[in-house]
Amino acid sequence: MPENILIAIAWPYANAEIHVGNISGSHLPGDIVARYHRLKGNNVLMVSGTDSHGTPVTIAADKEGRSVEEVYQKYHNGFIDLFQQIGIQYDLFTTTHTENHFKVAQSIFLALQQNGFLYTQKSMQWYSPSAKKFLPDRYVEGTCYLCGFEGARSDQCDQCGNVLEPEKLLNPRSKVDGSTPELRETEHFYLDLSKLEPEVARFLRERSSYMRETVLGESLGKIEAEGLKPRPITRDLDWGVPVPVKGWDDKRLYVWFEAVIGYLSAAVEWAKVSGKPNMWKDWWVNPSARAFYFIGKDNIFFHTAMWPAELMGAGNQFLQIFAEEHGMLTLPYDVPANQFMNLEGQKISGSRNWAVWGRDALSRYDADALRYYLTVNMPEMHDSDWDWAEFVAKNNGELVATWGNLANRVLAFSNKHWEGHIPDINLSALRPADRALLASIEDGFRTVGGLLDAVKLRAALQEAFRLASTVNQYLDQMAPWQAVKTDKDSAALTIYTALKAIDSLKVLFAPFLPFTSEKLNTFLGHEAPLFGASYTEMVKDSLGEHTVLRYKPVEGGNQWQPVELKPGANLNQPSPLFKKLEDSLVEQERARLGN
Ligand SMILES: [Zn+2]
Repeated sequence: MPENILIAIAWPYANAEIHVGNISGSHLPGDIVARYHRLKGNNVLMVSGTDSHGTPVTIAADKEGRSVEEVYQKYHNGFIDLFQQIGIQYDLFTTTHTENHFKVAQSIFLALQQNGFLYTQKSMQWYSPSAKKFLPDRYVEGTCYLCGFEGARSDQCDQCGNVLEPEKLLNPRSKVDGSTPELRETEHFYLDLSKLEPEVARFLRERSSYMRETVLGESLGKIEAEGLKPRPITRDLDWGVPVPVKGWDDKRLYVWFEAVIGYLSAAVEWAKVSGKPNMWKDWWVNPSARAFYFIGKDNIFFHTAMWPAELMGAGNQFLQIFAEEHGMLTLPYDVPANQFMNLEGQKISGSRNWAVWGRDALSRYDADALRYYLTVNMPEMHDSDWDWAEFVAKNNGELVATWGNLANRVLAFSNKHWEGHIPDINLSALRPADRALLASIEDGFRTVGGLLDAVKLRAALQEAFRLASTVNQYLDQMAPWQAVKTDKDSAALTIYTALKAIDSLKVLFAPFLPFTSEKLNTFLGHEAPLFGASYTEMVKDSLGEHTVLRYKPVEGGNQWQPVELKPGANLNQPSPLFKKLEDSLVEQERARLGN
């Protein structure tokens, strides 16, 4: 029975380009797991979009002197271009600035309100007398009252990682004009998270056998230590999702509350644009569906505590409001959050250009070369470091030397000595050593698959590499390059075996290295592709137009298994899968940083 797998990936803010840290933190691990499940024949829905609201975007617009719409569209289109180039295959990559998302987010709000989890409260908020308006969260910076960090945002401190109560910030200053704001009274809706605390804690305990320790520490550990406190879910802003309550026209839903709802609204939008408007429920109103959330460590609490609290609090009421039906929304199955990737020993910083930008790197390097290094170096349990010398060393010493050369030399040899064909052997003539090799490679569908299923991506890729090196050892032992001159039948058995091993390895590598696996698939004479194709489309609604990235899946069932490789069948002309990189580029790349 195919499983229903929801792959939910962190929504990038529309205020900066995506760098390697973002790619290895969320987009790439999500894509690898999605591709694995698609190969297995599972029903995958992979969604995300541009977080177009919130103050980071309005701040970027102020800085660039453009409208907020222009700014969010510019970054949004850049994200889509990057994903197409590096092969992040979203079923739908949309934005939060859509009529559909407004409606879904407002329905969650109303469901929480009807279930008694919202209340209003007057509070003091930073107000700028010079700009004559309230200054939300990130518009105010100052000194963290917990750790003393001087560059803290009013809602969150990047030094100690704590969520802050904005009005407690010390030495506040406005990010707009540097003036000193004053506290004034305002009124907001609050989500009473304390009422939902027992349920959220139980939700996490039920998942503690397989959730990452780093994630449990930042969620269950924090709740047990500090509890869940009510949080405001509206802001004094004019950009964002309107509050669906009369008299609240000058306020918007707070972006922390609204953007996570995007995982749900993107599924609804996907179903709509696919012409199957109810199909989102296969993942979202289905207790057997598994939902994986791929995010960075700075987002753990929002996805393990607050988002589940929103879903549990909305309960059956959401579906009543939204579709006049009954049913509960699917809770996260796992939140395999990654730690951070640093760059040459320092924290990545966009503003200092201490970053490797995705699209810029793709102008010089192949997607699979980048995907490879980003996976072997993925910050799964600890922070990792992008090091240009290591990038070159791993590309040349592992990707090219172990896997690329193996595929190239066996294909080229077969093409040369068997005139563009797979050796036409009798399968019953395979020797014990041939059968042993194939059995161990084919067991990789179980071992590599098990690791991918558990989202242990580094270990999964390592296991695929270990298997590739056993084919190299087998070839060294059987020496077909010599045997072809003296005993061509024996060489034929060896080369057939090696080709069949490569044919399976190509599938095991495909989630990580989809472009070269697809090439190899063609070289080996297969006609059906491994994956479908990404494409873009314009969607119109009452808010305007937005581009979405979509995916057209391939027909067919389980490809995550050995396939028949017909003796004597045609091979296509091969070419090298990977490029060797020059050592000199290390210094060139390092010279770009920080300028
Ligand atoms: Zn702090």
